[in-house]
Amino acid sequence: MNTQIIRTDSDESTAQAVQRTVEELRSGNVVALPTETVYGLAADAFNAEAVAKIFEAKERPGFDPLIVHVASQKAIREVADVPENIRKAVRSLTELFWPGPLTLILPKNDKVPDIVTAGLTTVAVRCSQNEIFKQVLEDLGRPLAAPSANRFGRISPTSADAVMSELEGRIPVIVDGGACARGLESTIVQVVAAEGKGKATFRILRKGPISADQLKRYGKIEMASNDAVSENAPEAPGLLATHYAPNTPLRLLRKPQDFKREPGKRYGLLSYRGKKKDGYTTLYDWDEIEILSPGSGKTVEAALRFFFLLRKLDESGVDEIIAEPVSEFGVGAAIMERLQRAAVKEGGRR
Ligand code: AMP
Ligand code: MG
Repeated sequence: MNTQIIRTDSDESTAQAVQRTVEELRSGNVVALPTETVYGLAADAFNAEAVAKIFEAKERPGFDPLIVHVASQKAIREVADVPENIRKAVRSLTELFWPGPLTLILPKNDKVPDIVTAGLTTVAVRCSQNEIFKQVLEDLGRPLAAPSANRFGRISPTSADAVMSELEGRIPVIVDGGACARGLESTIVQVVAAEGKGKATFRILRKGPISADQLKRYGKIEMASNDAVSENAPEAPGLLATHYAPNTPLRLLRKPQDFKREPGKRYGLLSYRGKKKDGYTTLYDWDEIEILSPGSGKTVEAALRFFFLLRKLDESGVDEIIAEPVSEFGVGAAIMERLQRAAVKEGGRR
């Protein structure tokens, strides 16, 4: 299959890209689209055969459910039956954070095919902020299933070129909407009803751009425990211990003094701020060095550059990527979660 990248550098080309996308989706094909988090691989969520093409292109295991995108807060009812006891909490979250990088886990309705939710009785729902994505949803008039547009377990794509290097030959069309504004996948929250009259509980299944601090005013925060993260049959689906992994082994170096190197090996540093005083840049004459937050953006800037620079280091030909920890403030906690999953585990295993 020939994979075509469609540019969107003018109003006219954008309108054409949207039209072509809608045609492909109506014919039951998949299309890679920009969102504010990472590029997604979209298919009509109500068309099980089209959704199967997502799993095939990504080589994604059938137990890993997809996120369904809707056009608005009102459109939740197309895919989910929100029970009365969580309605208020869902309304506050969607009013505040939608459209945006927040995915809610809700009871699914019968219209959503089992393949989308990997047989679960719940569905993950999100509403993207990206203008192209929004227009496609509006013109199509149906929800879209869209996980990240990378091969399973690999680095998420934040540009059309990155999608190309992940899925070339496997999908017909990639819409180039430029670099993703946030650069990290959405925060995933399961909304659990309160017993009695208290506040609902927000169980954070995946950390992301919307932090626990931002959510805690509206409900009780609970973190999915790390015990749920296992190698093959995770209790929380998709939260595998290994994910976001470059081909090159990656080590998260908690303290600069822990650095041990083998002669003859080439090392690349993924630095947080690139500052001498942090002790990493001066450890070694790095073969490659990339800085997540050289400007003043701090963790927000680091997040939007994270997958792009990780991919760059992965493709640079070094033997090992050494990653400096980032501040766990705000979205930094989500970057650290990605780094832990990307790292080679004890004993050399991924
Ligand atoms: P991706 O779209 O590639 O970022 O992956 C979507 C992730 O959402 C999955 O890997 C799961 O971790 C999570 N997810 C999707 N649906 C559900 C669900 N019904 N319950 C819990 N987690 C879900
Ligand atoms: Mg993904």
